[in-house]
Amino acid sequence: MKQDYTEAAKLLQQYVEQHNLRVSYERGVILKTMCEQDQALSSTELVEAVKQHNISRATVFNTLKLLLSAQIISPVQARTADKTRRYELNTGRRGSRIEVVCIKCGRITQSTDKVVETQLYGKRWRNFNISGFTVYVYGECKHCRALTARNKK
Ligand SMILES: [Zn+2]
Repeated sequence: MKQDYTEAAKLLQQYVEQHNLRVSYERGVILKTMCEQDQALSSTELVEAVKQHNISRATVFNTLKLLLSAQIISPVQARTADKTRRYELNTGRRGSRIEVVCIKCGRITQSTDKVVETQLYGKRWRNFNISGFTVYVYGECKHCRALTARNKK
């Protein structure tokens, strides 16, 4: 998402200025890569995704730590079989988010649903003002479904 990157880059800029750091080329590339994916990435997947830019594993790990401290990303809390920690952006659709989680491979994609959104924001919450939500939808992705079908033959 392009607007996610603009917002996230601005937040990163503010954070590094406050902490006397700098926005290095590598940090920029890592953040941009995370914004361009339509799924939440694990650190290993991120290392793989930025390999072509000659960015080391250590830089990816340090940048993830920085982005977590700056609250630009969060770990996804979904239950998956592979127990891999994946990260997602807090920007853009932060308010209302639907995570579609494959329980077999752990792949997480983000989705939206106007009906769910309208229901949750429209509901009268007792002594509570709703500002956002996360819904996890569990199941099997198309890759895992194809694998299961092939193994049955
Ligand atoms: Zn899967």
